[in-house]
Amino acid sequence: MAKTKKTTGTSRRKYVYSFGGGKADGRADMKDLLGGKGANLAEMAGHKDLRLPVPPGFTITTEVCTYYFTNCRKYPPGLKEQVDDALRKVEGLMDKKFGDPQNPLLVSVRSGARKSMPGMMETVLNVGLTEKTITGLIQKTNNPRFVYDAYRRLITMYSDVVMEKAAGLEPKDGKGIRSHLEGILHQFKNEKKVKEDADLSTEDFKKLSALYKAKIKEVLGKEFPDTPEEQLWGAVSAVFSSWNGKRAVSYRRIERIPDEWGTAVNVQSMAFGNMGNNSSTGVAFTRNPGSGENQFYGEYLINAQGEDVVAGIRTPAPINKYSQSDHNKHLPILEEHDRGVYRQLEDIRRRLERHYRDMQDIEFTVEEGKLFMLQCRTGKRNGLAAVRMAVEMLKEKLIGKEEVIQRVTSSQLEELLHPIIDPKAEHSAKILGKGLPAGPGGASGQIVFTSEEAVSWYKKGKQVILVREETNPEDVEGMRASKAILTSRGGMTSHAALVARGWGKCCIVGCSDIEIDLSQKLLQVNGATLKEGEWITLNGTKGRFYAGRLPMIDAAEENPWFKEFLKICDSLRRLRIRTNADTPADAAKARSFGAEGIGLFRTEHMFYGKGSEEPLFKLRKVIIARNEEERKKALKELFPYVKKDIKDTLEAMDGCPVTIRLLDPPLHEFVPHNQEQLEELAQSLKISVEELEKRAAALKETNPMMGHRGVRLGITYPEVTEMQIRAIFEAAIELIKEGQKIFPEIMIPVICSVDELKHQEEITQRIHKEVCDQYHVPKIAHFFGTMIEVPRAALTADEIAHVADFFSFGTNDLTQMGFGFSRDDIGGFLPDYLEKRILPDDPFQTLDRIGIGQLIKMAVDKGRSVKKALKVGICGEHGGDPSSIEFCHKVGMDYVSCSPYRVAIARLAAAQAVLNVPRKRKKRT
Ligand code: ADP
Ligand code: MG
Ligand code: MG
Repeated sequence: MAKTKKTTGTSRRKYVYSFGGGKADGRADMKDLLGGKGANLAEMAGHKDLRLPVPPGFTITTEVCTYYFTNCRKYPPGLKEQVDDALRKVEGLMDKKFGDPQNPLLVSVRSGARKSMPGMMETVLNVGLTEKTITGLIQKTNNPRFVYDAYRRLITMYSDVVMEKAAGLEPKDGKGIRSHLEGILHQFKNEKKVKEDADLSTEDFKKLSALYKAKIKEVLGKEFPDTPEEQLWGAVSAVFSSWNGKRAVSYRRIERIPDEWGTAVNVQSMAFGNMGNNSSTGVAFTRNPGSGENQFYGEYLINAQGEDVVAGIRTPAPINKYSQSDHNKHLPILEEHDRGVYRQLEDIRRRLERHYRDMQDIEFTVEEGKLFMLQCRTGKRNGLAAVRMAVEMLKEKLIGKEEVIQRVTSSQLEELLHPIIDPKAEHSAKILGKGLPAGPGGASGQIVFTSEEAVSWYKKGKQVILVREETNPEDVEGMRASKAILTSRGGMTSHAALVARGWGKCCIVGCSDIEIDLSQKLLQVNGATLKEGEWITLNGTKGRFYAGRLPMIDAAEENPWFKEFLKICDSLRRLRIRTNADTPADAAKARSFGAEGIGLFRTEHMFYGKGSEEPLFKLRKVIIARNEEERKKALKELFPYVKKDIKDTLEAMDGCPVTIRLLDPPLHEFVPHNQEQLEELAQSLKISVEELEKRAAALKETNPMMGHRGVRLGITYPEVTEMQIRAIFEAAIELIKEGQKIFPEIMIPVICSVDELKHQEEITQRIHKEVCDQYHVPKIAHFFGTMIEVPRAALTADEIAHVADFFSFGTNDLTQMGFGFSRDDIGGFLPDYLEKRILPDDPFQTLDRIGIGQLIKMAVDKGRSVKKALKVGICGEHGGDPSSIEFCHKVGMDYVSCSPYRVAIARLAAAQAVLNVPRKRKKRT
């Protein structure tokens, strides 16, 4: 009989994890349960290699959050007792008591999800300050100014977070309680004629607190709570509630974070950075998150608390010389202001990097000369920094090769391929303004001043730059929609900078010369006035911007870390990377990105674009020809153009394999449409325009995508195939005779049956012999193969493999015919399919593994069952998509072929695929 497991009573489940005093219940790898912040606080406090000075506290688990929401906002039984126990421990370590009128303990109540959601959720500081405890704390610290400063901060945060937001109150007239209170503060400072909060006296803060409380009563209709317990539990509930706040929910949508995860709550004894001039608070990165340079980089504020640094109220000072910028170089660096603390911080920096083996983003507070660590997490970085750090950490032996490759995402790598402003154009452009370089690269766009505008302009297909005083979490969607972000306030750790860096977006912050006039929708900067809709160009790497639209160029070419990184990728990947190139110029570009061959050379491209008039005219003669004789004559005229084009491309690829596809598109695409061209063609063919129009009309098809195209042309008109094959072999042998290594691969498109391929193979062999005889050589080495792009070809791949040396999956057509979705008409319905989640992705972008992937896998297996050495690759659009590349690796393809600009991405994706796809174990016999 099966035993049913007894479920342990919920009351005995562990909901609360303590940390402090060199010990911790939790660990860094417990992020799911403790959230990122809680897990890392535990690690910093308790791990034997760290034991950093972390103010003691405890974490309430994410399970409680889930419980809270599934049980009508109630807590599980037993939680209260566990919290009380944990609080007693903290009191013991701190030698203070929560709510004690003589010696009160104050705590912060902080959110912390599994994955960091910067600024999306709430935190309340100084919890536990009441009319009673104020007196005690003043006596204890002898610093009434500090106590009242802390008190007015508590009132502001608490009323905003707990009494308004968490209570679900929609502020009337759009003005929340926080802005009411800030209004009071502003007016108060004006009356006193002081600029900074720091200039306010104890009495001022005391008066402010009273004014605040009265305002809260007036606006929210409730008293500010005056017992520590009420404050604590109010704050805890508010943090949990903030998980389902509007901002957090919309951030989760963008970042695809599941709603079920929930947040943990961290309750931690306060470290006070606002006790005077030997107190401070700051944030830092163990390496520069913008460039990747191995330098300590950060900012701090003297006599301030927590969020002041990020909020951008005062300009933070640099922690060291390295972190100085035009904006803050007049401020005292921490390294000099408090050498001891700085040294200690440097030491912690080193130990944290050793321990986590990655760049960390840290928060610290100095209370009267004593350093406390308040947070650490793996720091966000842009692509430039990600690549450099990964490569340098390998050299420093912090990480191994495999980790190097996992440290950079394909979208981060893509950032390096993103444009920068053409240096020549930039050199001669006049700088409009300067700020801090928060997100690298260049971008141009039209100015908008609100997130709503950014989103609505973006939807209209416009390219916008969001210009704001500063951004806050409510702006994320507008920031997303913008090409770049420009703010007039805030530092390198301000909200705008953090978010832009995470997304790899071009961004400049703290450009203090900008004055924004929202009512007029314009900005003024150094004497210039720019209106909404005007174009500007940002250089986010240097922090400068310009009027108008400057030309852009590629960034990666001169970056040594980029090159080294890709070499490391190459040493791990199994897939070869080829490119789809149609011109010698494309081929050369792709070579420079590291392409190892051409997987798709479309001959018809010579009939489009610049310089195509003559060959196109000849091709038209071929198409319009009435009989074989006329056609052969026209083909003869066309031949030299085709041969030259092929020869140039083979030469540019310098010995690498080149897959040449025979003419593919439906013929009518090439029929002239305007009168003048019709007349010219008629004249040259010595027929009337009417006759020409009649012949052209005969080529019209109802469904050209499934019409007379690809191999079908070569079946009807074998002479068309003959001409192309001859061009390929002659081009090859002439180059070989010049001493070059040439290996052409002849590829027949759109086949559905092995007999089509046999028919074309006969022609190929016949022409091969003719050319060999003509050039007096025994043979010209080559491959003969086919595209697999019609489902029937995939289904009969074993038959086809008898005749083919290689398969190349044309996944665009295979997807089109596999789904029965017309590629050209998909815009009409695909968005609905995605929105209604009928399809997870656009199957033309990301290979549909379940359906189309099954066809591919079957074709590979069937093909190889007949011919073990069958070469297999992909040449559809999917060859440049990381997830599709992983699939190609998995089914054992030999190579992927993608557009030149995706080659670098493909090199990375192919290396990551090796690590992500478990190797097949050989069956034991
Ligand atoms: P976020 O996730 O938005 O950064 P945090 O929970 O880290 O929110 O807190 C906001 C600010 O308050 C941070 O600057 C943090 O360092 C500060 N802070 C939080 N807890 C404490 C504490 N116990 N003592 C001093 N400062 C704190
Ligand atoms: Mg934080
Ligand atoms: Mg095709």
